[in-house]
Amino acid sequence: MKEVKFLESAIGQIKHTIDYLERYADEDSSGEQLECELAKLEACEKSLPKKVVVNSNYFIVHYACPCGRVYFRGDYKDNYCSVCGQLLDWSVTEARACV
Ligand SMILES: [Zn+2]
Repeated sequence: MKEVKFLESAIGQIKHTIDYLERYADEDSSGEQLECELAKLEACEKSLPKKVVVNSNYFIVHYACPCGRVYFRGDYKDNYCSVCGQLLDWSVTEARACV
């Protein structure tokens, strides 16, 4: 998973930049740059797959995006959350199917 490693290191660098901007830059000159870095961070984090949340109610199993706003039922599996755009990792549900 080369891509994940790349994204993780990009996220680390962006966080470092944000930290620096928040600490040392003055509001007038850095506000725009800070906003830009925050947008980059959000985009990178959403490109990193997050595990879907498994909710089982009696015998019915639901899957949800980590944002909690989108639910999936049955065989319907979307690679992206339609609300927040988060890339979803369904490996947790595959592991369950093998049990
Ligand atoms: Zn979502």
